[in-house]
Amino acid sequence: MKEETKVIYEKPIPLKNTYNAPYWDAADRHELNVQKCNTCSNYNHPPGPSCANCGSIDVFWENLGSTITGEVYTYIVSNRPFLPGFQNELPTVIAVVQLEEYPDIKIIGNVLHGNTETVSIGTKVKMVWIEATEERAIPQWVMV
Ligand SMILES: [Zn+2]
Repeated sequence: MKEETKVIYEKPIPLKNTYNAPYWDAADRHELNVQKCNTCSNYNHPPGPSCANCGSIDVFWENLGSTITGEVYTYIVSNRPFLPGFQNELPTVIAVVQLEEYPDIKIIGNVLHGNTETVSIGTKVKMVWIEATEERAIPQWVMV
C-alpha cells in the first residue's frame, strides 16, 4: 500500500476575483502577470478595475515570465502570528520588493527563511512560488 504524505497549508488562501484572476492564473503556472495601463504605460500592481495612475480602464496584462528578481525596497519583521498558519514561521519577514528589470513595479511578499540578521533594504531576492493547494500557487521571495 502506498503511503501518502499530505502537507496541509494552514494559511489563508488568496481569493481570485474579476480583477486579479490573470495574476493568480499566471502564479499557478509559476509566472508573473502584471496589469499595465494602455493609456499611460503605468504598471498597476496590485491590479484593479482601472489604472491607479491615470484612472483609465484601458488596462491589459503583461507576462514577465518565471525569472523574477529584485531587491528589498522596505520590510517589516512580524514576531506575532496575526493570522492562523503563521505561528510556526516566526519571525516572518514581509517585504516590498522592487523588481530588478521593472523598477516601477513593487510586489509585497514574505522573504522565506529570512530574519533580521539576513534581510535588509537592498537585499537581492528572487520570486518563488509555494504550492498552497493543488489549484493555488503563491508568489514569495527567497534571498539569492
Ligand atoms: Zn494609466
